[in-house]
Amino acid sequence: MNRRTFLGLAIVAAAVPAATLAQETAVRTLPGVPVLAPPDEAPAVSVTWYGVTTLLFDDGETQILVDGFVSRPRFEDLDSLAEPDTPRIEAMIESGAFRHVAMITPVHSHFDHAMDVGAVAVATGATVVGSESTANIARGAGVDEARIVVVEERHRQQFGEFTVEVIRSAHAPLVNGGPPIPGTIDAPLTPPARIGDWKEGGSYTIVVEHPAGTALIQGSAGYVEGRLAGIAADVVYLGIGGLGSLGKDHAAAYFDEIVGPTAARCVVPIHWDDFTLPFGNIAWRGSIYDVEWLREFATARSPAAGLATLPFGEAVEAFRGCGRS
Ligand SMILES: [Zn+2]
Repeated sequence: MNRRTFLGLAIVAAAVPAATLAQETAVRTLPGVPVLAPPDEAPAVSVTWYGVTTLLFDDGETQILVDGFVSRPRFEDLDSLAEPDTPRIEAMIESGAFRHVAMITPVHSHFDHAMDVGAVAVATGATVVGSESTANIARGAGVDEARIVVVEERHRQQFGEFTVEVIRSAHAPLVNGGPPIPGTIDAPLTPPARIGDWKEGGSYTIVVEHPAGTALIQGSAGYVEGRLAGIAADVVYLGIGGLGSLGKDHAAAYFDEIVGPTAARCVVPIHWDDFTLPFGNIAWRGSIYDVEWLREFATARSPAAGLATLPFGEAVEAFRGCGRS
């Protein structure tokens, strides 16, 4: 195992020692950040968070799925073998949660985002959109080539009333200025595979547009300068994994590059939970800096924007903003 690569991943996974975490699993949300409440009536478009950066957008007719990571394999190191949890994916379909997924796109191809994209696409008939590495995850699961879209820099496609734009971005620079588990997946990846086989493969910003509103999703705390100029959004779903370890200057630039152009009314942190815990078991495992900085940035740099987080597995309004009014 490449120890440096593993340590990079561990920055995200283990900002709090496991022994401490075991005593503090009651921390199920970001300290001091309000949790969005499910609305009284079904919204035009809902979003449901299933941990890490898995977000399901649903307008009642069409679903757009970011990541679709529900397997949560046991994680010890990069050599741990993992494969999609087929019963879990079937349960998501049978429960109606994944009832009409038209499109699935991961924020990048690491296991904690992309390991289920192929299996979910096979089970739902969804189109997979992402990097060549993501395409190889889909191919390895047996997704038909006609339902795979490879994105180099930018791709825009309509699904029902949704228009989804996928824009090449950058992963959080956690290891030597780049991602942990760098590189690309160059051949169809058929699980079980090593956790370390899900290489990053390129990171993306995802813009989900609908007549009801627009959401921008940034899974990983990296950016490409100026890349999102001119993209407005009602809500930004902002990945903060490892942000505290990257320093306040990086965090501020990240906020300005991702949230700044959008003029969003609400910033919703994602990727703050411990992705090594089983599905449905949510525990905050970040740095208090992440949260304090976000609060400061939201106040000073984007005064119109509030801060809120999502409940696990409950549909809330996707574009409404941080408050109910
Ligand atoms: Zn990653």
